[in-house]
Amino acid sequence: MALSLPGGFLPYADEWEKKIGAFIEYRPRGLTPDAGAVSGNKAGDRAAERAAAELPPEAASLVRDLPFAVKDNIAVKGFSLSCGSRLLEKFISPYTATAVQKLEAAGGTVVGKTNLDEFGMGSSTDSSALQRTNNPWDQSRVAGGSSGGSAAAVAAGLVPYALGSDTGGSVRCPASFCGVVGLKPGYGAVSRYGLVAYASSLEGIGILADTAARCRAVFSAVRGGDPMDQTSRDAPPSSPPLYGAGNAENTRNTENAGKKVIGVLSAETIAKAIAAAAAQEAGDAGGKALEAAAQAAELEPETAGAFMAARERLAGLGHTLVDVDIPSLKYGVPAYYTIATAEASANLARFDGIRYGRRPGWAENPDDLIDKAREAGFGAEVKLRILLGTFVLRAGFQDRYYLRAQRIRAGIRANFELYLGTPENAKTGGASAPGGRFCDAILMPVFPTRAFGRGETGLSPFAQKAADLYTCCANLAGLPALAFPVGVEGGLPVGAQLLGRAFSEGTLLDIVEEYEARYPFPRPAGYKAFWEG
Ligand code: GLN
Repeated sequence: MALSLPGGFLPYADEWEKKIGAFIEYRPRGLTPDAGAVSGNKAGDRAAERAAAELPPEAASLVRDLPFAVKDNIAVKGFSLSCGSRLLEKFISPYTATAVQKLEAAGGTVVGKTNLDEFGMGSSTDSSALQRTNNPWDQSRVAGGSSGGSAAAVAAGLVPYALGSDTGGSVRCPASFCGVVGLKPGYGAVSRYGLVAYASSLEGIGILADTAARCRAVFSAVRGGDPMDQTSRDAPPSSPPLYGAGNAENTRNTENAGKKVIGVLSAETIAKAIAAAAAQEAGDAGGKALEAAAQAAELEPETAGAFMAARERLAGLGHTLVDVDIPSLKYGVPAYYTIATAEASANLARFDGIRYGRRPGWAENPDDLIDKAREAGFGAEVKLRILLGTFVLRAGFQDRYYLRAQRIRAGIRANFELYLGTPENAKTGGASAPGGRFCDAILMPVFPTRAFGRGETGLSPFAQKAADLYTCCANLAGLPALAFPVGVEGGLPVGAQLLGRAFSEGTLLDIVEEYEARYPFPRPAGYKAFWEG
């Protein structure tokens, strides 16, 4: 089905795309290959059609007949699936991801595949081997990562929404850098079928959108259990509904309908915890690394100011704000990088130059062929992570790294559940929670800085990894998190995020949609609204 684009859109899109380079493959005229038989998976087509037919009308109208973009590590039949890597540069996907299939069944059309850090590894999109993506707010700066192309395309108005993936913050970091909404659904809430795996136990498909209402609509279209992904499931009936919550019955403050208890995890609280741990380990390498991490996690004044303002605005909207502390978070980054690289080293073993992607012109024997394909195909960051992953999984060392990281992960989840409750115990009110009641959400920074520059004005690879602290904990805990714009400082957007208990995406969206009604999201200079509604 041909997509009908609004008048004046194509020249507008061409001009932006020349400046920002959001797309690896762009077909703005939006012809879906093999229209009508997109997935090649008939059972999947029927399930997607059923799901689309059940969409509430307010969701359907924000998706139907509209274009969307897809990060180039999510499969769309007939489109590129490069993962930002030389190894897969010419690879065309033979099938379509479930999330994409559901959006197509709901009347959406894929118009292109967006740039990313190679295999989703990074926070800038600059480690894409294929091209550079610039931030629509300031083209000398990065768009964030790893879903930087998706965020930039939405921020510039080239699409109303885009799919990304979030393993440790890759939807929320670029959402914050580009001034758009970024939802990382809870683990298993959206099928991962068709997402090229980086770290399977941490990641999922996420949504970048122009408004909270759009984000809700897209989430309601893509969520749900899928037989093709055994870790996906439907939201339990007790979870907050996405539509028609009416709010009053879904909050414990019945005398104050729709108002929520929001925990605030400030950067100071986290920095203090890391500094205390560094002091304990003073003198050894671990202590030094923690000290450097504490520094890297410190918010720049502009980000800190916008975070404080968001806190006050939420209080001004009638929510109750309370301070919370997640003590095990201080080890979040080391745990995240241990688990993520361990899983990456296993997941990326499939790229051998035989089954996928580029083959070297000549090789002595199969081992030599694999060596040559990987040597030429993988970028430096990917090689580093595969090596790290094989190191932490080495026989005899698993206790010291991998299993310890899993224990930290369990601790972080338990810390969050103490404040947020679980889907099972949420209704009890949380008398045992610190403060005597559960929080509906926890407000946190997304990233210590705004979009950074390149070269001199950039962030070192170590600082970029340490800065994942605020985002990676939602992945370690498997909880949903929603990033939203809370200000523009020095011409660059700043985001904050709300974390919730499993399957509470509806609550997070309620809070942000109400916030947006009062404090509309900013747009970069030159933005034209083609997709309002
Ligand atoms: N910055 C993180 C990393 O490099 C996040 C990646 C992601 O979420 N895909 O691993």
